[in-house]
Amino acid sequence: MTETKTHTGGCHCGEVRFEVTLDLGAVVACNCSICQKRGALWCFVAPEHFALRAGSDDLRDYQFGKKALHHLFCAQCGVGAFSRGKASSGQEMVAVNVRCLDDIDVAALSPKPFDGRNL
Ligand SMILES: [Zn+2]
Repeated sequence: MTETKTHTGGCHCGEVRFEVTLDLGAVVACNCSICQKRGALWCFVAPEHFALRAGSDDLRDYQFGKKALHHLFCAQCGVGAFSRGKASSGQEMVAVNVRCLDDIDVAALSPKPFDGRNL
């Protein structure tokens, strides 16, 4: 399954909404300390493929460790629908939690392991 497509998504309460163009064939499951607890499934995209449509005032930021990444979450419902930061290449990127896309069949995905724990 390799198809780049535009999806809409957001947090649970609906305050945070976004549009993103990504390939659901490139989903990863990260083993870092926060992803293990959150259970998010990620797709990394360049910032120009992501547009926040609503909820910038509701976003709260959580950082830890090297503080390279902004683990954003909705202040109302607590759901972390996406994160922002720099990839190891230095490139700005957005990590979208594909579980938060509107039209997603999570059972149909084949997430690849991502060794975030050892970055
Ligand atoms: Zn919310």
